[in-house]
Amino acid sequence: MTEGKGPRNRRAVRWFPPSLAGQCLRYAVMDLLGFGRAIDPDGLLAMQAGAVLHRQFQAELKREYAESVAVEVRIRSEELGVSGRMDAVWQRAEGAAVIEYKTVHREKFDDLAETGPLVGHWAQLLLYLDVTGHPLGYLIVECRETGRRRTWRTGPDQAWQGWVRARIQWARAHQASRTLPAREVSQACRQCDRWRRCFASETEREQAILRHPVWEPSPPVPAVYPGVVQA
Ligand code: SF4
Repeated sequence: MTEGKGPRNRRAVRWFPPSLAGQCLRYAVMDLLGFGRAIDPDGLLAMQAGAVLHRQFQAELKREYAESVAVEVRIRSEELGVSGRMDAVWQRAEGAAVIEYKTVHREKFDDLAETGPLVGHWAQLLLYLDVTGHPLGYLIVECRETGRRRTWRTGPDQAWQGWVRARIQWARAHQASRTLPAREVSQACRQCDRWRRCFASETEREQAILRHPVWEPSPPVPAVYPGVVQA
């Protein structure tokens, strides 16, 4: 995938990373356009801890299901412009299952008992099912502090897959025109590592969040995760 006509301005166009499928659209477009991130020390530590746990989880899978599990499975969709790697694919009697593993901090982990999976995690898993055609998907979320886990299982879901496709197509249209979509203000802006591209100051950001604390993406996020089993 390239843009520009002559060899001088020919350059690679970023593929859409599946991890951005359920994120703020403006944030996703900034990523596609190569905008930098200002990751604070706590965020960096959390990312490093998550990466270690991630490798441990994949090693655990390989130990327990050596014959039937593949890890870091490459995925690519020319149609959607999506490219990435799935954490694992597990061959089961009822068909191949995509496994997506995430870590969160304790407070967020406790919230999941009430809220169900985070939109970003769920959208990524449903995107994988859409692109691969696999019949099963598992989302496993681990608490970084305690090691406790929650697991949800699903099959393909038309409503979610339609939502994810719409968001990706919209993001890629902005990528092509090199324009940023409008802000999608919510409490998540407080943790956003690109917030300075949206607000002139912390005060301005806080005022915007107070006016609009709840994320309202377009199209709206599909209603409660049908067919999900929490283990
Ligand atoms: S600060 Fe908020 S609106 Fe801006 S990119 Fe981040 S999440 Fe989106």
